[in-house]
Amino acid sequence: MKCREMVELMTDYLEGALSVRDRERFEEHIAGCDGCRAYLEQMRATMKTVGNLADEPIPETIQEQLLEAFRSWKATSS
Ligand SMILES: [Zn+2]
Repeated sequence: MKCREMVELMTDYLEGALSVRDRERFEEHIAGCDGCRAYLEQMRATMKTVGNLADEPIPETIQEQLLEAFRSWKATSS
């Protein structure tokens, strides 16, 4: 699985919406990829905050911001 796919699956993973097979692939990648692990942690924290405020899905803007942060992390670390 590529990092790009991971980003797309991130919300589904945190919502428990992934199939068993996808979740296994996801966790396999997370175990070996610092960037995705950091991104997941950030995403988890964001979802928790947003979830406390309102029972709504993450606003597009926040997802974009996280994606941006993730991209710059990748850019500086490689
Ligand atoms: Zn990755």
